[in-house]
Amino acid sequence: MIVHRAVLAALTIVAAVSGACGRRDPVAPPAFAPPRLIVLITIDTLRADRLGAYGSRAGLTPNLDRFAETAVRFTSAVTQVPLTLPAHATILTGLYPQHHGIRTNDGFTLASVPTLAEALHAHGYATGGFVGGFPLRASSGLSRGFDRYDDDFLKRSTAVERRADDVVAAAAGWIGDHASQPVFAWLHLFDPHSPYTPPEPFATTYAKAPYDGEVAYTDAAIGRLFDRLSGAGLASAAAVFIVADHGESLGEHGERTHGTFLYDATVHVPMLVRVPSVPARVVDAPVEAADLAPTIAELAGTTLRSVDGHSLLPLVAHGGGDPDRPAYAESYYQNVLLGWSPLRAVRTRTWKFIEAPRPELYDLQNDPAERTNRVNDRGTLAAGLQRALPPMDDGRPATTAPAGGDAAERLRGLGYVGGATTPTARSRAVDPKDRVEVWAALEDGIDRIERDPAAARSFFARALELDPSNGLAMKYLGDISFRAGQLDRARDEYRRALAAGFTHPDVFVNLASIAERQGRSGEARDALSQVVKAAPGDADAWNRLGLLEARHNQVEAARAAFTRAIAAAPDRAEPYYNLAIIERRSGNETAAAGHLRQAIERNPSYPEAHYELATGYLAAGDPERALTDYRAALAARPAYAEALFGAARAELDLHRTADARRDYEAFVRIAPPEYARQAAAAREMIKRLQNR
Ligand SMILES: [Zn+2]
Repeated sequence: MIVHRAVLAALTIVAAVSGACGRRDPVAPPAFAPPRLIVLITIDTLRADRLGAYGSRAGLTPNLDRFAETAVRFTSAVTQVPLTLPAHATILTGLYPQHHGIRTNDGFTLASVPTLAEALHAHGYATGGFVGGFPLRASSGLSRGFDRYDDDFLKRSTAVERRADDVVAAAAGWIGDHASQPVFAWLHLFDPHSPYTPPEPFATTYAKAPYDGEVAYTDAAIGRLFDRLSGAGLASAAAVFIVADHGESLGEHGERTHGTFLYDATVHVPMLVRVPSVPARVVDAPVEAADLAPTIAELAGTTLRSVDGHSLLPLVAHGGGDPDRPAYAESYYQNVLLGWSPLRAVRTRTWKFIEAPRPELYDLQNDPAERTNRVNDRGTLAAGLQRALPPMDDGRPATTAPAGGDAAERLRGLGYVGGATTPTARSRAVDPKDRVEVWAALEDGIDRIERDPAAARSFFARALELDPSNGLAMKYLGDISFRAGQLDRARDEYRRALAAGFTHPDVFVNLASIAERQGRSGEARDALSQVVKAAPGDADAWNRLGLLEARHNQVEAARAAFTRAIAAAPDRAEPYYNLAIIERRSGNETAAAGHLRQAIERNPSYPEAHYELATGYLAAGDPERALTDYRAALAARPAYAEALFGAARAELDLHRTADARRDYEAFVRIAPPEYARQAAAAREMIKRLQNR
């Protein structure tokens, strides 16, 4: 005993001495100096196996591979959801979806939970988020805590994504502007997400594998970011975190893109972490996307209250970790959309269990493609893994409101489907993997709905043949009929979709439009009221309701609806314009002018708003200001007949007869037939001006 104690004492002394020499005691918690710059790069839709650092020989990612040589490389990292918005919500909060509240890309907003950006901001960091794709729009709630949240490109109402180089340029500029304080910058690079359209030279080089081309382009853009940080002297002191939000199936297991299944093609993600003065290493223990927020918070010297993830700093510093840690993944995409069963999985380094009506177990070491379901011969193991799943939240996830109108269009452009089906016991018993053909037919239909509606129709009909109660297929058939002007048919198809339990704001909006065109304004009002009742934040629906009321001279109701539209989306210009027209009609000219100016503030090249404002000035005897706004309207839309006529009138008042004559002549040239009377008056005026 005495000898033993002496050995212990000697060891203690050795440890103390080595500590004094600066070597780290391997059991002490790591101590890092908070970096002045923390960069988080999330690469959308990047399969781990496309990186050289994760075994690819295709040479797509030289910059990431060079970075990986200096970083901690996690070989068993798992995203919690293979969908962009919920995955990022997890990355930026450290919470599982049931705690941050976002289950799919549409219809959910971030719950009032603490975010990483808030914690870092409170801790003195400048916080900037630079996103590349529409699913991460600020209205999702992810912008909370960011001093600067750059989704500005989405102001163009048809924009869905921007190139990695644009994100890099915006972020690098902002980082440079804030170098005097600690900085946290998050870059979201969306390019590998479908549609696969890499720029040149990648489009040509990877003509046969455009997804790979997007990956190679994104890697090149990351190289340019590293160059800029190095050039600014910021690279060596920066902590850099790189992760994919999910992968891409590319047809594996019958899945074209991502979101439905929990196989490794989409849930196993690359994760690389470089912390200054920490040597490169490889960590094989399972880790989660949810670990990133607590890791970054701890590195910065702060903490996040209540997270589902664990700080990775001990693994970053010392390696190791628990090889049997059950990493979690889920998909509620088909559950929300079609009422089918959700899928939930746990993945250790060697096994994956998927909870489903027909559960699955895969031996990842010997069957990495997950082809042989071992659940029957390894029942005990499967049951043990199932017990490691977090408790299931009861019932259906609380959707807020799926996007309607142009937001729905933009999501569809990225291959995402919106809407929700009320699940029944029968629908919940449906295993998504038993409906692969149904989903494939739906995806094929959605893919063709713009360019080949007839082909799309036959795909949706095929989906209905396989799954007769599929409300989503019925809704899309309704959309095709609606766009073709087959209103009765569209109405029937939409009503069948609703009867099947499927709801989507566009169904009600289009039913309202059909009812109004067919002269049933009460029915139209009812349909729009359903949308705003279900989704009080749907500015587009409020705006439409206001227009309907305005057409029927319901001034009070129209005013109320436009006011709600403004409250729901204060950045949008049209509801201000519509409210202005209502006020002008009611004789409130001052209010009208004020709202027109508010519309123009939000959209400086809004031709109708400039035109209406000018008309107000002209009526008030101020031709000078009127002319300025007529010119602004014409700058935005050169062939704006009414604005030309108005400008000529203002010029007459200002005795600028040559200008007036020129504008009357231009008006006569382009005036549509309904302005025959004005055209005659203009000709008369031109004659008179000639005789002067
Ligand atoms: Zn994504």
